[in-house]
Amino acid sequence: MTGPRVRFAPSPTGYFHVGSARTSLFNWLFARQSGGTFILRIEDTDVERNRDEWHQGIISAMAWLGMDFDEGPFLQSELRRDHESAAEALFAGGYLYPCDCTREQIDERIKGNAKPGYDGFCRDRAVTRSSSTALRFRVPDDGVTVVPDLIRGDVTFPHDSYEDFIVVKSNGGVLYPLANAVDDRTMHITHVIRGEDLLPTTPKQVMMWEALNHCDDVAFVALPLYAHLPMLVNEQRKKLSKRKDPVAVESYRDQGYLPDAFVNYLSLLGWSPRGDEEIVARSTLIEQFRLEDVSHSPAFFDVKKMTHMNGEYVRQLSPEAFIEQSAPWVAPWSSPWRPTDRTVPWTEDQFDAALYTRVAPLVQERVATLGEIPTMIEFFFLDAPTIDVAAFDKTIRNDPIAQTLLAVAIERFGELEWNAAVLHEATIEIGEAVGLALRKAQAPIRCAVTGTLVGPPLFESLELLGRERTLVRLLDALARCSP
Ligand code: GLU
Repeated sequence: MTGPRVRFAPSPTGYFHVGSARTSLFNWLFARQSGGTFILRIEDTDVERNRDEWHQGIISAMAWLGMDFDEGPFLQSELRRDHESAAEALFAGGYLYPCDCTREQIDERIKGNAKPGYDGFCRDRAVTRSSSTALRFRVPDDGVTVVPDLIRGDVTFPHDSYEDFIVVKSNGGVLYPLANAVDDRTMHITHVIRGEDLLPTTPKQVMMWEALNHCDDVAFVALPLYAHLPMLVNEQRKKLSKRKDPVAVESYRDQGYLPDAFVNYLSLLGWSPRGDEEIVARSTLIEQFRLEDVSHSPAFFDVKKMTHMNGEYVRQLSPEAFIEQSAPWVAPWSSPWRPTDRTVPWTEDQFDAALYTRVAPLVQERVATLGEIPTMIEFFFLDAPTIDVAAFDKTIRNDPIAQTLLAVAIERFGELEWNAAVLHEATIEIGEAVGLALRKAQAPIRCAVTGTLVGPPLFESLELLGRERTLVRLLDALARCSP
C-alpha cells in the first residue's frame, strides 16, 4: 500500500456544518500533500436523523469547495455485514457479553455509586443471548488506553472512567463506535482526522480495534494515528451552535462567498501558513499543510474576518471571472446553478448584459460577497431607483440647499459632454456655486439617481446610466419634494 489513507466520515443529519467542512478540508489537504488517498464515507446509520437531501448536500458542498475524493462515497449502511461479523468475532473472543438488564434496573442499582454508568452486573452471569439481550464490551478493570494523537501527543484514558458500553443493541443493531472502527479497518485508514468532540469516544474505538486484532480469523490491522482538530468557537468563545450561529456552508455559498476564499479561511481554523500572509493559494496550502502544526486551542470562527478575506478574493478576480462568477446572483436565468431563496430585483428583460460588463468593474471594488451586488446596482436596470426614504428626507427633502443644487445640476448636466471626468468637474463647480464641498454636493445627486447614499463610484455610474435617465431622476427627485 502506498501513501496515507484518510477519510471524511460525515453523518447526513443536517446542513453541512462549517466544522465538517474544516474537517474535510484538513483531510483533503493532508491527502493531497502526502500523495495519499482521500475517501468519503457517509455515516448514515442513524435512520431517524438522516435525510437524503443532507447526504446530497454534503456531496454538492464538497464539489463546490473543490475537495475531490478518490474513493467513495461509501454508505455506512451498506457495510452492515462487516459490522455484524466484527461483533460476532468480538463475542467469540470473549470481549463482549450479553446483558439483559433494563434501563430501570440499572438506574435503580447504580444510584449512589461512585463510578457512574453500568455496574458490570451481567459480566459473569453467563446470560444466554436472545432477542432481549444487548452485547456489552468488557472494559478492562485496570490500566489505561492511550490514543496516539498527532496534535495532542499521546492522550491517556484510564479504564475506570469507562463503563462496559453497549456494542450491539438487543435488536441486533451494531452501534456507531464499532461500525466506525470496523469501517476504518476495512478501508485501511492510516490517519483519523476529525473534530475534538469525538476524542472521548476514541478510547472505545481503540479498545475494540485492539481486541479485533487479537480475535481468531480477523486480520491484523495497525491502529491508525489520530488527529483531533480543535473545536470551533463563536465570538463569545463558546462552541459554535447549530441553532444560534451561522454554520451552514450552503448559506455561505448562497451569499456569494468564493470557494477559494472559503477554503483559505477554513484552513486558518487551527492552522496557519508559514510567513505573515494569510491569503495564500490553494497550492500553497497543500504544500505547507502539516498535521503536526495544527493547534489544539479552540479556533474562533470569525465571520467578519472571513467576509473581509472574501472581499480580497473578489478583488483578485479578473473582470471576466467576476462577471462569470456573479452570474447566479445577477442573471440566474443564464446560470446552471442558482442560490436558494434569493430573488433578483430585475427581470430578464430589464437586465442589460452589455451594460453589466461595464458596471461590474465598479462594484468589484466595493463588494465583499457576490450576493451584495444586486442591491448595489439595481438602479441601472430598474426604471426608477428604489428610494431609501430616510436618506432622501435627510439629504434632499429637508435640505433646501440640496434642492437648489439639484436644480443647477439639471441645467448643467443637460449641456456638458457626458463622461465621468467632466461630470466630476461640473459637480465641483455646482457645489461651489451653492457653497458645498464636493462630498456634500455628491450626496443629493447620488440619492436622487440611485435612491441611496452608498453604491458604486458616482460619476462613472452617471456616465454609464446616461444623460437622459440621469436627468429624469434628478427631475423626479425635485418633483417628489413639491407639496
Ligand atoms: N460520523 C461522525 C460525525 O459526523 C464522524 C466520525 C468520524 O469522523 O470518525 O460526527
